[in-house]
Amino acid sequence: MPQTFTYEFDTPVYKGKSSFPTGLFINGQFVDGIDGGTIDVINPTNGKLLTKVSEGSSKDVDFAVECAQKAFDTVWGLNCPGSERGRLMYKLADLLEQHADEVAAVEALNVGKAFSWAKGADIAGTISVIRYYAGFADKISGKTIETSIDKISYTIHEPLGVVGQIVPWNFPLMMLSWKFGPAIAAGNCIVLKPSEFTPLSALLLAQLSVEAGFPPGVINIVTGYGSTVGEAISNHMHIEKVAFTGSTLVGRKIMTAAARSNVKDVTLELGGKSPNIVFDDCDIDQAVSWAIHGIYFNHGQACSASSRIYVHAKIYDDFLNKFTEKAKNLKTGDPFAADTYQGPLVSEQQFKASVLELVCGSVLKHDKQRVMGYIESGKEAGATVHLGGVRWGNEGYFVEPTIFTEAKHDMRIVQEEIFGPVAIVVKFEDDEDVIRQANDTVYGLAAAVFSKNIDRALRTAQKLRAGSLWINCANQVHANIPFGGFKQSGIGRELGEYALEHYTGIKAIHINLGHKI
Ligand code: NAD
Repeated sequence: MPQTFTYEFDTPVYKGKSSFPTGLFINGQFVDGIDGGTIDVINPTNGKLLTKVSEGSSKDVDFAVECAQKAFDTVWGLNCPGSERGRLMYKLADLLEQHADEVAAVEALNVGKAFSWAKGADIAGTISVIRYYAGFADKISGKTIETSIDKISYTIHEPLGVVGQIVPWNFPLMMLSWKFGPAIAAGNCIVLKPSEFTPLSALLLAQLSVEAGFPPGVINIVTGYGSTVGEAISNHMHIEKVAFTGSTLVGRKIMTAAARSNVKDVTLELGGKSPNIVFDDCDIDQAVSWAIHGIYFNHGQACSASSRIYVHAKIYDDFLNKFTEKAKNLKTGDPFAADTYQGPLVSEQQFKASVLELVCGSVLKHDKQRVMGYIESGKEAGATVHLGGVRWGNEGYFVEPTIFTEAKHDMRIVQEEIFGPVAIVVKFEDDEDVIRQANDTVYGLAAAVFSKNIDRALRTAQKLRAGSLWINCANQVHANIPFGGFKQSGIGRELGEYALEHYTGIKAIHINLGHKI
């Protein structure tokens, strides 16, 4: 029997208890992994062990897929009306809302993000995404297509079957909801792997899904490592589609595995190095505030972080002074202190592991630390550390909000995803040249533009190669607006109506009304 994780929160922002099993969630039950074994879950605030969760294997993935397929064939998919799927999803969203403080506390504890952000962004976002797709569950339908007098054709948008979902650690529950929502609304059963670093909120959601009344087998959560459970999902012959959020390096492996196995459908939400262009005719105070949110939200651990900030020469000094002042005042510290803006990075690996990254299609291994390694690489390359650039405190994985200036376009800190609280501020003079620089990375996830001149802002937005374009704002996502990347930032779109297309197969029915041959 799996152990139960019980934690008493006695913090300034939340007092309460959370308790849920730490096993794999398969067929509506928490079970131990077939091979046994556990994974240590570390508290990033102090580097100490929080709990252990079951370590899944490919055998557990096989079992989860079998159960999911059985549920799909009997009680879910076309055997369950959309209105009923929607009802269960609304119930789950209501339960998450009732437990919002507890779920936010578990997320903050495991990921290291401030409780206020976990509650206001991650959990609120998760609830709105599940509700948004719950509303779609009974509104997915095909078309009738006119052909000729003696023929009628129509299409049915059917669920795919069992889908695999692989989720990262930066927004564990919210990324889960982006995949869970459209998959479940469309009638698929899921086998989902959370990140080995942050599996707790997915297990808490699994517990709530039992209370919501989802039939066994519809939702399966297999905790484990990428090289075992993740690969088993991507290679599985009976998984019809895999949705992934994470690094470009792993996205490439997943696509290869999908092609080599059963040519399963793939959606990938990968990295980014998003530009933020600040023109001289912007509202400078607003541009500064949004730029702070753009890069430092979630400690820069966001694929859409506006990490390259290009500022027009005419306002560069003023912008940099104001931006620095605000960044200096972002409170780093305990995620459960009321005034904390940023906590620790998620893991020791993220703080200091080797850097593995894809640059222009080739895998480079740098024997450097990750976020701290990038900071060192920027210094070595000759960029100026204008603010921060150092560890905060002496335990846990905290990095001070950091600003680099005087960086050259070809430096690694300008080209590669750092995934930490590190802003690169670059001066520009020419509109066309800044667009060229902004587009000149392997990524194309998001971009921001600040200007009060609508022509200039829209012209720039048209020319930027990115899946999300933010004008006079940054780092914005909504349940009903599609999100995804161009170039090596990914394939397909999550959120909005567009995501449903990735979770349905289109069947065309031809009816002969009398044509004889
Ligand atoms: P990752 O890509 O290694 O991990 C993401 C998920 O994929 C995890 O659940 C992991 O277990 C799984 N995974 C790992 N190897 C796998 C494999 N071979 N097959 C299938 N699944 C596998 O990301 P990471 O190591 O957690 O972070 C490394 C870097 O990735 C970050 O520094 C950042 O640049 C990037 N990242 C991007 C996002 C994003 O939102 N786009 C999220 C997390 C990380």
